[in-house]
Parts: sequence; structure tokens; C-alpha cells
Amino acid sequence: MIVGRFAPSPTGELHLGNLRTALVAFLSARRNGASGGRFLVRFEDLDRVTSSVERAAMQLMDLQEIGISPDEEPVFQSNRFALYHAAIDTLTKRGLTYPCFCTRREIAEAAVAPHQAPGMYPGTCRGLSEAERAERAAEKPAALRLDLAAAGLAGVPIRFTDMFMGEVSGIPDDVVLRRNDGVPSYNVAVVVDDFLQGVTEVVRGQDLAAITPTQIVLHHLLGMRIPDYGHVPLKTGPDGERLSKRHGAVSLGALEDEGVTAGDVREMLLAEIAEFAPGLVGRSG
Ligand code: GLU
Repeated sequence: MIVGRFAPSPTGELHLGNLRTALVAFLSARRNGASGGRFLVRFEDLDRVTSSVERAAMQLMDLQEIGISPDEEPVFQSNRFALYHAAIDTLTKRGLTYPCFCTRREIAEAAVAPHQAPGMYPGTCRGLSEAERAERAAEKPAALRLDLAAAGLAGVPIRFTDMFMGEVSGIPDDVVLRRNDGVPSYNVAVVVDDFLQGVTEVVRGQDLAAITPTQIVLHHLLGMRIPDYGHVPLKTGPDGERLSKRHGAVSLGALEDEGVTAGDVREMLLAEIAEFAPGLVGRSG
């Protein structure tokens, strides 16, 4: 059975791009009829400062207005930290993590290895000795990173077949698993939750395709089944840039103020989805 999900961060109003991704995830989970798949909503509120339950409730209402409702009570990641810490501990016990003391700026300024894409961690703290680690730890708390070299996977291309992008290949990254304030990272939480919730397909925006090879590695290292992936093309504004508030009325509430109904929005999004995923439109459950 297909288990799909939509996993927004409840930090504000969903915009049309989010709603379109949600609709794709929902239609895909329902593609074998209402009894052939389940659809979940998970709130990714690891950042408790910018997230709120009120915003989550608003997002759920917007989803409902365009015909999307989850089959189970949504879960909140802020209630599940123990699960993420357990996964991080598993990796640490197996020697697959290392502490990192770098600031964002140090990372941006460091030279990256030839196989690395911009923004990937250059491995600066990987080679610190125990004495150096102790010395740095006395100054400030460390983040904890995935040690791909210890896993024998540094620079190894990871391939997957994407539902919308076709064959994709990318190099995994020594991502942060636990931030230096002790909060587990998005990459750990998403992998642990998709596994524990029995998710079989991860549908999300194409902006996340670059991190998928790393998440696949995390699934693999944790012995967690790897789901299918579908990265939805990003919705752009009239200027070709990724859709944002700057483009005017881009949320359901703002559009309704201009006389556009939720039904109109659903029809418009379905027409767009038909262009890149024709098989999903016209037989929703
Ligand atoms: N919470 C992420 C976002 O709102 C989505 C993560 C995912 O679907 O894996 O962009």
C-alpha cells in the first residue's frame, strides 16, 4: 500500500507552491483509489521559535479547503525529539559522527573538495585530534555531523529514480545531525519519521532534491527502508523566480480576498499538475 505525506513547516501561510506540492502528494497517494493508499500530514516544527500550533491549524484548514485531508491525526516533530536522538546515538556508537565547531562563515570561506557542490561541508573538523576537540569544546558547544568517510561513502555518487525528474545522481554531504544547541536536524528527523510512519513515497519540492542523496545514505546507515522520491517542479512567479510573497497574492487567504475561491485555486493547480504528472489528474479519490 502507498503511504504518502506532506510535511510543511508551520511557520506561516502555505503559498500556492506548497499547496501544489501537497496536492501532488495527496493525488499520488490516492492514485490506486481511496482504499489503495494513505496520506499523512506531518508538521516539521523542529524550530520552536518560528513554528506554532496555530499556524499548523491554519495550514490544515487551507489544505482542507482545496480538498486535501490526512487519514491520520498529524504528528508534530517537536514531540518526537527522543526518536531523533536515539537515531543520532546509533550512528555515534558506530563511529559515524564527529563534532563540528565551525561557524557558517568559516564553512562558506573554506575551500571545498573537487567532488563537492557549493554549500557542502568541506570536512574541516573531521580531522581534529581528541585534544583539539576537547580544547574547542571548552570554548563552545559542538554540532554533530555525519561522517561519510567513516562510512566509506565520501564522494560516492548516490543515484535514485525520481517520479518527476527521472534519473538523479548526487554526492552526499557530511550534514549536521544535531545542532550545537542540541536540537536534532531536519535531515535526521525527516528520515526517522518517514521510516517510522511507514512512508513509501516522499513527494516534495525540487529545492530538496539536492539533499536526497544524503537522506538516502542516512536511511541506509540506519537500516531504514528507502522510500520512493518525487520532487515537484517549483512554482515560479511571472518573472520566472521562485514564487514568494513578493509576487502578491500567493496564499489561499490573500486570493480569497481578491475573489478567487478555493475551488478556483484547486482547478488552477490541477491544470498545472497535469503538465508534469498527467497520470495523477482526473482520477483523484
Ligand atoms: N519541511 C520541509 C519544507 O517545508 C519539507 C521537508 C520534506 O518534505 O522532506 O520545506
